[in-house]
Amino acid sequence: MRVADGFTELYGSAPEGVWAAPGRVNLIGEYTDVNDGFVLPLALPHTAVAAVSRRGDGVLRLHSADVRQGVVQLSVDDPAPLAGTGWAAYPAGVVRALREAGHPVTGADIHLASTVPTGAGLSSSAALEVVTALALNDLYGLGLTGPELAVLAQRAENAFVGVPCGVMDQMASACCTEGHALYLDTRDLTHRQVPFDLAARGLGLLVVDTRVKHALGDGAYAERRAGCEAGARALGVRTLRELEYAQLPASLARLADGTVRSYVRHVVSDNHRVRRVIDLLEAGDVRGVGPVLTEGHVSLRDDLRVSCPELDLAVSSSLGAGALGARMTGGGFGGSALVLTEADAADVVTKAVHEAFAAAGYPAPRIFPAVPSAGVRRLR
Ligand code: ADP
Ligand code: MG
Repeated sequence: MRVADGFTELYGSAPEGVWAAPGRVNLIGEYTDVNDGFVLPLALPHTAVAAVSRRGDGVLRLHSADVRQGVVQLSVDDPAPLAGTGWAAYPAGVVRALREAGHPVTGADIHLASTVPTGAGLSSSAALEVVTALALNDLYGLGLTGPELAVLAQRAENAFVGVPCGVMDQMASACCTEGHALYLDTRDLTHRQVPFDLAARGLGLLVVDTRVKHALGDGAYAERRAGCEAGARALGVRTLRELEYAQLPASLARLADGTVRSYVRHVVSDNHRVRRVIDLLEAGDVRGVGPVLTEGHVSLRDDLRVSCPELDLAVSSSLGAGALGARMTGGGFGGSALVLTEADAADVVTKAVHEAFAAAGYPAPRIFPAVPSAGVRRLR
């Protein structure tokens, strides 16, 4: 085990255990989590793996095989803010969040390595947080559940890293199971495993990592959130999640601001698309999901306006090559798209996307299959 050996080399003794937590892609339900709505992520086979041992002296030693930096040493109670400490803020933030919640974590040595692509909208950050959270939970006998670990991991990212993310990524990394997507109600974290066995149906799901991230994205995310909040206020609901799809035309007619109107149309219709996809999957009609994904892309592109030329090209070129459906996934302005295709057409679709990107003069995308995989677990 490579990560365990790395730990032993660094810290001079074998780790007490080794854990793995996956990245994720979201099948449908975008910008719904910041409106208390529904999402349907699945875990990727790509994981962050952490070898960990306890310490009793209040010291935290952190090392990543993927970063050109030596061991980062911090105190578990260091009053200094973690923002600015780079990657180490993610695992250190988890320790802070655990201690803040009253859990007696007295230190740790951690060495980790990850196969989750970073910054591609596939939640390498949540994988890092959740693997740290389960390792400390197990070593310190904290008895926390998956959703409790996810909430602590989100708290770590919000409060200690300083990223105002929702809870979907951490819930997916903590609670997904193999062969399923995770239906999650982000208002109260109720969740259910939805069968999503692609291979058995002769289907494949591809991730197209465009490898671009447009600078525009950061401010746009906050602007979309604010626009959704304005829509909820104007319609007299706490969040857009409370609006019924059947009432959407009536709700839209009450909104004077055209931008807010189109944001509301996206969120309410995407919540509805999550329900539609679940109904299709539970009825065994996995192919029927394709057109709903494509509808979701059009909504993100035209109503929420968070797509970009590279994502649009990933979608149009894969559909042009016969894919069943495709959409951007994640926050947009770059990152990844998802493509549902007949398994035996995956090569043709992959080739078509590569050719379209080359012809447009874009950097070559990274394309790989998304096999619905297990959530966080102890490896040894
Ligand atoms: P995403 O979660 O979509 O991949 P984020 O910006 O939320 O993108 O998180 C990426 C950050 O997480 C990286 O910049 C780095 O700080 C941290 N990170 C992810 N994977 C690793 C790793 N293997 N080693 C160290 N830090 C990592
Ligand atoms: Mg992240």
